[in-house]
Amino acid sequence: MPDCIFCKIVRGEIPSRKVYEDDEVLAFHDLSPQAPVHVLLIPKLHVARIADLEDHHEPLLGRLIIAANKVAGQLNIKESGFRLVINNGENANQTVFHLHLHLLGGRRFTWPPG
Ligand code: 5GP
Ligand code: ZN
Repeated sequence: MPDCIFCKIVRGEIPSRKVYEDDEVLAFHDLSPQAPVHVLLIPKLHVARIADLEDHHEPLLGRLIIAANKVAGQLNIKESGFRLVINNGENANQTVFHLHLHLLGGRRFTWPPG
């Protein structure tokens, strides 16, 4: 998608602080961190949101979560705990319409979320 900011990050047209990359997934620090560790993991393939996923996307979701686990290890939040969040649509305040998994850690979170 030419105008999508995360597609631009994948293409290197917008800089990002990368922490992990493989053939299908890219992970980089969030521009506006909400916790000491706040990384976004995205599929390189443009998919707007969870609600647009189809059966053939199933392996991609597994890849995203396994990559999040790797990054959690890299950034030393695996044992202390972390939260994975995917916002979908208006009520969840999704602001960037390229699917992304938030990896948050380094502090205690409350439940239920706000
Ligand atoms: P959402 O609200 O859609 O779940 O999350 C979008 C996230 O993307 C926000 O946490 C926001 O700070 C982050 N973000 C938006 N634009 C950029 C950008 O250009 N670079 C980076 N690294 N993060 C961004
Ligand atoms: Zn995109």
